[in-house]
Amino acid sequence: MAWIDFKRVKALVTLEMVLNRYGLFDNLKKSGANLVGVCPIHSGTNPKQFSVNLEKSIWHCFGDCQAGGNVLDLVANLENCSIFQAGQLLTEWFLSDLEDVENPLPEKAAAPAKENQEQAEGVEEAGENPPLSFKLKNLSPDHPWLKERGIARETADYFGLGFCSRGLLKNRLAIPIINSAGELVAYAGRAVREEDLKEEKYKLPPGFKKLLEVYNLNRQSANLDRLILVESFISVWWLHQAGFPYTVALMGSEFGQRQEELILNRLDSTARILLMFDADKSGAKCASDALSRLGRWVFVKSLDLSAVGNKPHRIPPEILSDIILFD
Ligand SMILES: [Zn+2]
Repeated sequence: MAWIDFKRVKALVTLEMVLNRYGLFDNLKKSGANLVGVCPIHSGTNPKQFSVNLEKSIWHCFGDCQAGGNVLDLVANLENCSIFQAGQLLTEWFLSDLEDVENPLPEKAAAPAKENQEQAEGVEEAGENPPLSFKLKNLSPDHPWLKERGIARETADYFGLGFCSRGLLKNRLAIPIINSAGELVAYAGRAVREEDLKEEKYKLPPGFKKLLEVYNLNRQSANLDRLILVESFISVWWLHQAGFPYTVALMGSEFGQRQEELILNRLDSTARILLMFDADKSGAKCASDALSRLGRWVFVKSLDLSAVGNKPHRIPPEILSDIILFD
């Protein structure tokens, strides 16, 4: 049997079946919508690190593994084998009796579960953003654009921001993007002049994949207990200097699957996330997506900013401290 129907395996094999086969199911305890327990993959001791959502058929380890996924990922991690081999094992364990049954899985019956899962997983982007082999020099942090937006010099220095006077990002604000491993992977070039705005607001290297990075996540400690998620760079700077350094940005209003994994891997299982997306159509859509996806694992709350300025960086600091509440 060389060919494995992964969709069929995912549709027919539940996490409960797999956990039972390993004798792990009875050790899990109910916690909200999830089951939690000691992680069987990294043999941890924390009884809350390993989290399973039976309804969505997904799991995640908040501890050393930094792993998660569906039934196939679970077996691949437990057996230390490939996804393909995991598919072979699951087929052998649970589906071999079904092999001879004619049309065992009508497409119609399987369709809703499949659609839900794909929706819940978000946009998957393959590959990675390779680290840059250079660093921009002679960036000037003094520019009225930042001052006009209330971004202090110390904040600009902290985030390595500076204006570029030559090269590809000439006349733009260069924003270093550092991946969660601490490597510089790109500069975003924010237009500051009217004529450049018409061209494009942000210039990014060709082929750069935003959905694989979370801005400012590299500066966050492991096992975070709180996190603010925003759309834009400037919202991060603004919240940082207002006393909320645990703010990270998606760099847009789309929430990729890799971004979700990167965020989950920085969190403690008891963490609380506050979504502060722009009060517009795309922000609302992204908020509802992030709520349902992150909400499977941790406490998530979305703030409606329509009454306070629509965007995080337009909200005065004194109002920020009134509305940023994690309970
Ligand atoms: Zn683990």
